Amino acid sequence: MRAATNHRARTRWALTLAVSMAMAGATACSGPKPPEPAPAQDRRIPIGQLPAIDIDEVLAHTKTLSSDAFEGRAPGSKGEELTVNYLVDQFKKMGLEPGNTDGTYLQKVPLVGITPAPAPLVFRKGARQSRLQWKDDVVAWTKHVAQSASLADSELVFVGYGVVAPEYNWDDYKGVDVKGKTLLMLVNDPPVPDPSNASELDPKTFGGKAMTYYGRWTYKYEIGAQKGAAGVLIIHETGPAGYPFDVVQSKVSEQFDLVTPDRNMGRVSIEGWITLDQGRKLLKMAGQDFDALKKQAATRDFKPVPLGVTASMTITNKLRTIDSRNVIAKLEGGDPTLKQEYVVYTAHWDHLGVGPAVDGDSIYNGAEDNAIGTAGLLEIARAFTKLPMPPKRSILFLSVTAEEQGLLGSQYYSVAPIYPLSRTLADINMDGLNVHGRTKDLILVGFGASDLDEYAIDAAGEQGRVIHPDAEPEKGFYYRSDHFNFAKEGVPALDPDAGIEYVGKPADYGRRVKDDYTEHRYHKPSDVVLPDWDLSGAREDLKVFFAIGDRVAQASKYPEWKPGSEFRAKREAMLRK
Ligand SMILES: [Zn+2]
Repeated sequence: MRAATNHRARTRWALTLAVSMAMAGATACSGPKPPEPAPAQDRRIPIGQLPAIDIDEVLAHTKTLSSDAFEGRAPGSKGEELTVNYLVDQFKKMGLEPGNTDGTYLQKVPLVGITPAPAPLVFRKGARQSRLQWKDDVVAWTKHVAQSASLADSELVFVGYGVVAPEYNWDDYKGVDVKGKTLLMLVNDPPVPDPSNASELDPKTFGGKAMTYYGRWTYKYEIGAQKGAAGVLIIHETGPAGYPFDVVQSKVSEQFDLVTPDRNMGRVSIEGWITLDQGRKLLKMAGQDFDALKKQAATRDFKPVPLGVTASMTITNKLRTIDSRNVIAKLEGGDPTLKQEYVVYTAHWDHLGVGPAVDGDSIYNGAEDNAIGTAGLLEIARAFTKLPMPPKRSILFLSVTAEEQGLLGSQYYSVAPIYPLSRTLADINMDGLNVHGRTKDLILVGFGASDLDEYAIDAAGEQGRVIHPDAEPEKGFYYRSDHFNFAKEGVPALDPDAGIEYVGKPADYGRRVKDDYTEHRYHKPSDVVLPDWDLSGAREDLKVFFAIGDRVAQASKYPEWKPGSEFRAKREAMLRK
């Protein structure tokens, strides 16, 4: 689960999207012609008539999964055994089928834990050299599943934001060959001013204030690999990254990754971050100026700048491999043909396990992150089995591993799907749920990206509620939970978050409870079930997710990405095949 970090004014929330088209349509019947009876399966159940969401069940699952006995649910631990067994038992009890075609409820996810030994990073220009200290100045790693990886006097090239985005007519490389070089990049999207108002960002280029995937650090390393670079170093800036350098510093401990067939040798040798301070010094050493280069980098005319400086670093790894598991169950669709098409619900079961003690407590229980989302997934699954008949298409309930390690379980499913993604209509993800009572709204992170928004507007509208976009699209939260791996592969994916306008509470209550969680419980041993939890809002949100999945599974057409979405081209290509 991502932390809801700051306190930006609620400008985007002014945009209120109300109204259920479905309700409006219900009263529009006119003329004497009797309505044709709908085919048996062409049902559309009003949200109030869907099988009930039992919030006591959600609480009970959450308490079990977040109990000390489950040891914080780290992949590869005893906590994983207990969690996976618990989920499989629950799915069996509901009478759901095994979700894997091998007849099990499990998908093995091969992971490698990589712990880099501390090492300095050295920049050289002629006789001059600058030595960056591990962790204080530089955080770096290799994803190569190998004993070590090096940069040996690799030439440094500043490539601006390092972006190639054909839909925005943007290419920071301009055909320059960067093979074997080390790329120095800025984080986030190029901030392109709006031609009609220079104080704002151009909404037509990289989504304006909202971050696109080109802005994420993971993209930076991926494009470096595609270009054949030896290394990629990102200059950290707190604002554009969305978090301070100490979040990056947590990566000096063991990090997990998927074991790919090429043992990740297709990635660049060394991936890392340097502090802004060191970035400035490096550019100065190269006879350049950080601010001037950053300004140039925000233009389409930017060209790579060779720095005349080399980078050297050797990282030695400690490796351990484990098989973790995704848990998957299936409700088979009722239509003989359409049952081979799918709607997926996801929620990550893993959390941080046992770690450094805080106030004498070393178990990171992860009640909100994400025992409760997993519990919600179980409860939606149970509710689906209570429908008078299943929807036409099949529903998959996928609880993934290693979200906390970089969305790895969902990444594995998205690159090795059990059912074709071209026949997967949507993913609906739960990472955290509202524990503070009823809200008048529900937030969709990444609002405006796909037709799933209209499903959410309809379903919430039937409850008399509204949908709001997330308040901080510039932080790229949409790219930070499991649904993103579906989006990246082209599948429309919904990333809902708790509303902020609480019924009967002061206007700032929603912001306060989010901030309180971020400050006091997020990724801490204190993320436990609290006596004052009120799940009445979660019940309504889960109803919305239930209705969306049911309706997509019945729909006459696939949900689509909206024009301008960076995922639309991929989906279109996939569906053309
Ligand atoms: Zn988390």
